[in-house]
Amino acid sequence: MKLLIIGPQGSGKGTQAEILSEKLRIPHISTGDIFRSLQGPLKKKVDEIINKGNLVPDELTLEILKNRLEKEDCKKGFILDGFPRNLNQARLLKKITKIDKVIEITLDDKTAIKRITGRRLCKKCKINYNIFTEPKPKNPEICDECGGKLVRRKDDTENAVKKRLEIYKKETLPVLKEYDNILTINGNQSIKEMTEEIINNLELKTD
Ligand code: ADP
Ligand code: ZN
Repeated sequence: MKLLIIGPQGSGKGTQAEILSEKLRIPHISTGDIFRSLQGPLKKKVDEIINKGNLVPDELTLEILKNRLEKEDCKKGFILDGFPRNLNQARLLKKITKIDKVIEITLDDKTAIKRITGRRLCKKCKINYNIFTEPKPKNPEICDECGGKLVRRKDDTENAVKKRLEIYKKETLPVLKEYDNILTINGNQSIKEMTEEIINNLELKTD
């Protein structure tokens, strides 16, 4: 099963992709995660772009994605999160692979901004929290699980989020016109409710 998950910042698409990846035993491929884990000389250049809320150039993004999709674990399928992010990327993706289903998650800007600015990540064990919504840490600065320091992504500032949401509407939403197999899910529900709705609607077999 080759799935695409599309939604604005804060819609919970990364969370849903992670859950589905475990349930379906197919890899969760997030271009944002790949960019954040880069090392070496490329890292500085990419970080600069990302931290301002801008898109990484298409050529570099596609090259990185292509390398990832060629790995053995993608043979059975994958969940793509964060790609394609514009029409050019969608057209390039069509040349590489077919997509079975697109999951679109919707969310209003106000909720999106609140969720994103409340997002925290444990520096040590990488668990995600949110100081306004669930999963809420007991102490807003410390990880419940390991005691590590909770940090904010550099692109989760209000300015960068507004820029990212603007780009989402202008460049990413038009991508949906390229697909006719779209399942639309309301992002203003709990994580569990969203997962259930996705699973039920896709009639996915899970254990
Ligand atoms: P979010 O969906 O909340 O913006 P991501 O982790 O998906 O978070 O992406 C973080 C950043 O990585 C984006 O703002 C962008 O700069 C870069 N990025 C991710 N995917 C792409 C892509 N397909 N094309 C260009 N840039 C990308
Ligand atoms: Zn932790």
